[in-house]
Amino acid sequence: MIEIKSPVEVARMQRASAIVAEILAELAELARPGVTTRELDRAAEERIGRRGARPAFKNYRVGDNVFPAVLCTSVNEEIVHGIPSERALSDGDIIGLDFGVVYDGFFADAAVTVPVGRVDEKAKRLISTTRRCLDAAIEQLRPGNRLGDVGAAVQGIAETAGYGVVRDFVGHGIGRALHEDPQIPNFGIAGRGRALKAGMVLAVEPMINEGTSSVRMLADGWTAVTADGKRSAHFEHTVAITADGPMVLTSPN
Ligand code: MG
Repeated sequence: MIEIKSPVEVARMQRASAIVAEILAELAELARPGVTTRELDRAAEERIGRRGARPAFKNYRVGDNVFPAVLCTSVNEEIVHGIPSERALSDGDIIGLDFGVVYDGFFADAAVTVPVGRVDEKAKRLISTTRRCLDAAIEQLRPGNRLGDVGAAVQGIAETAGYGVVRDFVGHGIGRALHEDPQIPNFGIAGRGRALKAGMVLAVEPMINEGTSSVRMLADGWTAVTADGKRSAHFEHTVAITADGPMVLTSPN
């Protein structure tokens, strides 16, 4: 069942989301050549604590796997769930930064992909196209539309640009839990799937690959990489559906 949040609950989620948005913007600035992904994770953890929130991803369990950090750092061919390490960022890398918090009982979740130093034109195009995929997904989040409209919008833009749409990971409902019903694929058929209603809060997150959509998992049990080693980008917002259309909760400002 897709939970419907009251306006008061959405307002509470807005506060959690503002924390994520602010910190994500700060982390994007910190992602420079020479900085390690662990330094970014520490910066995130410190800022989350300072704002009185708790990290949503640290110690997140899937079976026997426990995620060890507050931030997912996914560099170049890494798609999602990269684990922060002593790896220093290089000029020309792209990095996906993804994290969530819990604040006042509610979760918020967002991600951006940013260039590190000076990147090539192909990287810029991948990043800007994935960002457009997110915007197109958000545009579909209105009462009367269906989940298939969201996936079809993302898939249309990505595949027209010659990119692969990741199938193995999807967006999700969000609220008192990080991952709630429904799952939100980044592919689909317009007009199909479950109906969208005011009061739903959804984390939409296109993951778009330069090449094949196929995914390979690293031995760490978390990091998903492209099967062909080409780059991948990822953007995510937590969005509330209102009678008037989408309200992006994790937008910076
Ligand atoms: Mg998410």
